[in-house]
Formats: sequence, structure tokens, C-alpha cells
Amino acid sequence: MKRRTGQDRAITQRWRPATQAVRGGTARSEFGETSEALFLTSGYAYDCAEDAAARFRGDQVGMTYSRLQNPTVEMLEQRVALMEGTEAARATATGMAAMTAALLCQLQTGDHVVAGRAAFGSCRWLVDTLLPKFGIGATVVDARDPQAFIDATRPETKIYFFETPANPTMDIVDLAAVCRIARERGIVSVVDNAFATPALQRPVEFGADVVAHSATKMMDGQGRVLAGVVCGTEDFINNTLLPFHRNTGPTLSPFNAWVVLKGLETLDLRIRRQSENSLKVGRFLEGRVPRILHPGLASHPQHNLAMSQMEAAGSIFAFEVDGGREQAHGLLDALTLIDISNNIGDSRSLMTHPSSTTHSGVDEAKRLEMGVTEGMLRINVGLEDPQDLIDDLDQALRKVGL
Ligand SMILES: *Cc1c(COP(=O)(O)O)cnc(C)c1O
Repeated sequence: MKRRTGQDRAITQRWRPATQAVRGGTARSEFGETSEALFLTSGYAYDCAEDAAARFRGDQVGMTYSRLQNPTVEMLEQRVALMEGTEAARATATGMAAMTAALLCQLQTGDHVVAGRAAFGSCRWLVDTLLPKFGIGATVVDARDPQAFIDATRPETKIYFFETPANPTMDIVDLAAVCRIARERGIVSVVDNAFATPALQRPVEFGADVVAHSATKMMDGQGRVLAGVVCGTEDFINNTLLPFHRNTGPTLSPFNAWVVLKGLETLDLRIRRQSENSLKVGRFLEGRVPRILHPGLASHPQHNLAMSQMEAAGSIFAFEVDGGREQAHGLLDALTLIDISNNIGDSRSLMTHPSSTTHSGVDEAKRLEMGVTEGMLRINVGLEDPQDLIDDLDQALRKVGL
């Protein structure tokens, strides 16, 4: 494996994220292929027994086993690290594997975590159910208010964990303020950057320590594979995350890593077009539904904050109808183009009713506290012609009397 002659890190590190998305981390084999090679192998052979021994001692560079290293997976890890602006990254089998590993690798019994209450359903399960089983305390707060993190912090607090924009309420967290509060107290900030991706928002520029991803969403972007990535300093990735990751094994398949590498090549294009389409659909809905939560619209209470930390608002937003679950389900059933699907980040437009799907595992009181009402719908706006999406929503809204 070689980098192109002259492609040393000093040069490649200076490339901007859109260039990194296409070229970052590329390592070519002896054949000089332009598109990244797929190394679909679980193991590696050695020229002699002493080479194997040297590699296991760490005296010889090289791969030993694909739970530990794989050339295709490494290309993805380096590319995402370069895009996020972190020293290193580690890929995982899913976004949830990334979140679980990012938290558990640095926690032990007696520690405490402060987490944003508006979060992906499984992230709430980690915080509310898994961590307490191991004697790790957790307090969930309204992450829109930086002061709430200060108030919830205890002497044993180790991590602040939150996502921005948050799923599905589109709450925005003030990255600079919350990451500063964490730094001042020696607390590690772990930011779930799945909605924005580094193409729109780079949390380390605002002081975040660890950035975790569901690469299943915008990074793959075409609804094909599950994947996750954890980004951080070399010290964090190599000395804190790696021992946990290598021995517990939430490793990403080389095939899925290759698919995400292909997805990243078009990430910048897709996310910008999908953000534009999402704004057009949002502007149409703004006059038709009682409430819309779109960070790109001036009606969002944190619109200015969102636009100060994101380059565009992204593909996803939420809105509410007054008629509760019945009207929300009726609207979904009346759609003829937009799919009923709980996935996001796809190039296809998808719509879901969070309280009966993605957030059905969160009990009702917690759902309402997060702002996930029975009339809330979440839409991922894809790459279709936005006028066709508007036409579809228009006829579906009429069918439910809106
Ligand atoms: C989807 C998602 C996850 C989980 O990712 P998977 O790849 O489905 O495991 C975590 N956080 C957020 C914000 C997500 O949207």
C-alpha cells in the first residue's frame, strides 16, 4: 500500500473538507487503482514465522487480523478524521456501536454523564437504561440551555453527550458554549454529528473532544449499509477507544467501509442539494401546518445559532399536525411519492411518525418532555425535484383536511 508520491500528510491535511471527502486517506495498492480497493479479507499471511512474531510484538508495521486492522476500513477512518479535523478515527459496524464504544471505553462504575434529553431513541436507551446497570449515573438535561449542563455537573461527571441538531425535535446545542464548559471542568464532550456530518458542521472547531457518527445516514447517503465512526485525538483513539474496540469487536465490515467511501465522494454535493430542497419543502409547509421545526427557517427559535455553527441546515426537519396520531398516520398513508420510512440521510425522501416508531421505546412522559408529540412527523428530504415533493405533500395534506 502506498500513498501517491508527494501525497504526504503535510499537504493532504491542508485540503478542505470537500476535497478530503473525495481523496482523503486514499492508499493505493501496487496496481495504482483510482477508486479505492476493497480488501474483503479477515486475515493476513506472513512471509516467515519471525515476521508474524515481530508484528504481534509491534516491531513491524502491518496487518494481523481484520478485527484489528483492514486497509479499506483504514482508508475510511483516515478520510473521516481528515474531514472532521481530528487526529484519528475508528470505524464501527453501526452508529450505535460508535456511540456505545465512545461512552463505555472511558467510563467506569461511579462515574456520571450529563446527556441531552432530545436524542435518537437508542442513545436515550444507552443513557437511561444501560449506563445505570453498570453503576454509572446519568442526568438528562434540556441541551438548548448551556447552563443546564453546569447545573447537572457533579464532581464525578466524566462526559457530556449530546447531538445537534437533535433527533427528531431539531433542538440546537450551542457547541462553543457547552464544549467550553466541559473543557473548563476537565469533562470530555462527546458530540453525535450524524445529522450535519463534517460537510456542514465540524464540532472540534468549537472545542468538542470526541465526535461520533452514524455513517448509515448522510455519509452512505443512499440507504445501503450501516456504519459508524468515532473521531478524536490520537491519544484518545489509540489508548482509550482502541483497547475497548479491538477486544469487544464492533468492527466495520470492509465491504460496508468501501460503500461508505463511495458515498463520501458525493457527500458535499448531496447534502447541499438536499439542504436546499429541504428549505423549499419547509417553506411550503410553513404556511400549511400549525408548527414546523426547521433550523434553516427564521421561525426556528434557534435559527441564528444553527446558522452560526452549520454551513446549511441539512436534509431533515420536523413538523406537527393538530390531530394527533390519527391525523399524522393519515397524512403518511396518503403519500404517493415520499416513502413511509424511519431512516434518514437517504437520497430518497422519507417520512416517519417518531412517537410510534423511532421513539416508541422511550416512555410517553419522557417523549413529551423531549417534545416528541403524537402529532409530530419527521421528514428527510431527498434529491427528487422539490416541486414533486411539494405536490405530494399538498395532495396528502388535503386528504387529511389540512
Ligand atoms: C441513526 C442515528 C444513530 C444510530 O445509528 P445506526 O447506524 O442506526 O446504529 C445515532 N444517532 C443519531 C443522531 C442517528 O440519527
